[in-house]
Amino acid sequence: MAKTILPLWIDGRHTKSNSSRFSEVTNPASGEVIRHVPLSSRTDVEAAIAAAKAAFPGWRDTTPLRRSRILNKFRELLETHRTELAQLASEEHGKTLEDAAGSVQRGIEVVEFAVGAPHLLKGEHAENVGRGVDCHSMLQPIGVCAGITPFNFPAMVPMWMFPVAIACGNTFVLKPSEKVPSCSLRMAELLKEAGLPDGVFNVVPGDKEAVDTLLEHSDVRAISFVGSTPVAKYIYETAARYGKRIQALGGAKNHAVVLSDAPLDFTADAIMGAAYGSAGERCMAISAVVAVGDIADALVAKLSARAEKLVVGPGDKKGVDMGPVISVQHRDKIIGYIASGVQQGAKLVMDGRNIKVAGHEKGFFIGPTLFDDVSTGMTIYKEEIFGPVLIVLRVANLDEAINLVNANPYANGTAIFTASGAAARRFQNEIEVGMVGINVPIPVPMAFFSFGGWKSSLFGDLHMHGMEGIYFYTRTKAITTRWPEVAERSASTLTMPTLS
Ligand code: NAD
Repeated sequence: MAKTILPLWIDGRHTKSNSSRFSEVTNPASGEVIRHVPLSSRTDVEAAIAAAKAAFPGWRDTTPLRRSRILNKFRELLETHRTELAQLASEEHGKTLEDAAGSVQRGIEVVEFAVGAPHLLKGEHAENVGRGVDCHSMLQPIGVCAGITPFNFPAMVPMWMFPVAIACGNTFVLKPSEKVPSCSLRMAELLKEAGLPDGVFNVVPGDKEAVDTLLEHSDVRAISFVGSTPVAKYIYETAARYGKRIQALGGAKNHAVVLSDAPLDFTADAIMGAAYGSAGERCMAISAVVAVGDIADALVAKLSARAEKLVVGPGDKKGVDMGPVISVQHRDKIIGYIASGVQQGAKLVMDGRNIKVAGHEKGFFIGPTLFDDVSTGMTIYKEEIFGPVLIVLRVANLDEAINLVNANPYANGTAIFTASGAAARRFQNEIEVGMVGINVPIPVPMAFFSFGGWKSSLFGDLHMHGMEGIYFYTRTKAITTRWPEVAERSASTLTMPTLS
């Protein structure tokens, strides 16, 4: 049967790619190819950039309030179509429908934040900075911005970027993951329906060729990237070489530190969702538990008892807790990690490698996997697995736990579970990680705060959304003004002006 070939979205309409290269979009629960997506060519991406460049002056000059009203209409359309977007995300990614709906909601919250941009774009003003001299600053858009997004949040991660960029008066070219392109294309249609002028938002699915075109093109002023660390580093270095503004969010190894005074059932429940939700394919997933003191045996027993009860199956089936992983290659890579853990001497408490899901024999499933007695030299600790594999490390005290977390090159999120305010306060102060949860397993900040990690989890200076997003997508201009009376005008001077 002929499979649908997806279009690109350029200048407000579906556009046929001129690429000769295509990628298969697969339903990970069935293993079936459900559509094909063009891998945009250099000329496809150049056409998208040209459309965004042409649309920029008109959009920049549209008042922030009018821009905001269009985004508000988009928000309404997202509410109406949230189930459809969740279904697309679940179908192409594999996550459960409920989980997908939650991530669409988190994306909608960024649009809600962006609707408030007129207030946030006001700049500053100071009267009389010198005698008869005033100063004000303006936040102006920067031009054509580009977003490059990963497979694991088909709707939410693009929405970390383009609503804020557009609200600030920029135009946008989005290069979604070739594995999950449909949500981005659907959101482009909804933006048009909301009244967004043609060319302000463009979508060019693709791979390295499309990405490199965005990185090298002189009309692209800023790049937002979310994906794995090696690619993030490449994007950061290349974009910087081409003189672009850049924020590149990378991979993660997120630790949950559990102190011996933590409420055990509450903590085990929290870690379950954070480790195995979305089959562990979240950048904020808890993938390493650091059990402090004598809580380890009881905690591991609670975790394995819960993990055994998780229902694995297709994401669109009621009652399923955990869907498949994204691809057969990724499943095999995860299986390889599990084998390496066994080989390097970790204790395999639960093995998800041989799971069978009836009726879905060709799906890319892995069951929940749990390792105990893991040490920091093992591959399963050092590398991001990005699957349903939770590892437990044991340490003697909070000092050791903090040192262990701080020695890891990744620093996206972390959490501490404890009943001690003093321990939690010390942890939040000393931990070198961008997002910290205190008895909160997945501390993803709300849209009006900023999202981002430290160290190898983010290359660049500014995080996504919140005020840092506004600053990323604008540049500041400071204006110093004097209106002298004719009689007051003085002779010119060659010395450095001091106003006071
Ligand atoms: P990925 O790095 O393979 O791909 C991300 C994007 O880069 C995709 O659009 C892809 O097409 C493109 N890309 C891939 N290889 C490229 C190359 N060699 N040159 C140029 N572009 C390339 O990541 P993924 O597998 O799609 O997503 C999973 C990763 O994303 C995990 O490491 C996860 O931790 C990370 N992630 C991080 C965050 C965060 O906020 N820090 C959020 C979500 C996902």
